[in-house]
Amino acid sequence: MLTNAGIEQSLVEVRQRIDQAAVRSNRDPGTIRLLAVSKTQPVSALEEAYRVGQRRFAENRVQEWLEKAPFLKNDCEWHLVGSLQTNKVKYLDQSIAMIHSLDRFSLLKTLNAKGEQCGIIWTTLIQVNIARDTAKAGLTPEEVPDFLYSIGDYPHVQVQGLMTIGSLNASAAETRGFFRQLRILRDTLQSKKRPGVDLRELSMGMSGDFEMAIEEGATLVRVGRQIFGARQKYN
Ligand SMILES: *Cc1c(COP(=O)(O)O)cnc(C)c1O
Repeated sequence: MLTNAGIEQSLVEVRQRIDQAAVRSNRDPGTIRLLAVSKTQPVSALEEAYRVGQRRFAENRVQEWLEKAPFLKNDCEWHLVGSLQTNKVKYLDQSIAMIHSLDRFSLLKTLNAKGEQCGIIWTTLIQVNIARDTAKAGLTPEEVPDFLYSIGDYPHVQVQGLMTIGSLNASAAETRGFFRQLRILRDTLQSKKRPGVDLRELSMGMSGDFEMAIEEGATLVRVGRQIFGARQKYN
């Protein structure tokens, strides 16, 4: 973990790099939101990020989110990224701003049932395995249209965009290609109106490639190590 001064410094740098990437690609920096991916980091690191103005945080494990959520102020947003097990949905509540990993019908049904029970409409993104990496979760691009057509049957789930995780083995040029493909897929799908679906968001880009993701149209970048330093052993 970085020291408190280190977290402040790296947040300043990441924000600057986001703004510069936006300007380079003729985009308004205000249209890009930074998610601080705080997985494996202790609550003290999140509190330091909060102190220097960070308000959006992301976790990939429900258990860890449950443990940390009580320590963060109400004006923060929590995002869930990474695979979501169906049997963990029961722990979620309305404080989850966005679920980035809707990738199968069983999860769609379970979220809808929980939303109906608790009076919540979930905001989600479809996770797309744009790199066709067998080690990664996500729908293939071909599966996305049918999945989107069925969203209207589940009124407690709304889809606001697409999310992808770049492939670990890919070159920079390949990664840029994946980001571009996700944007093109979004643009193509957005031209059809579907109930419960408005694909305004593109969640792509992590510590190693968030600037490239912004140049290719990302609206949400998910940055962990570049803010907090190396991952910790949580628990
Ligand atoms: C961990 C994680 C990130 C952040 O990764 P860094 O390399 O630490 O920036 C982004 N997205 C998902 C889905 C993650 O699991």
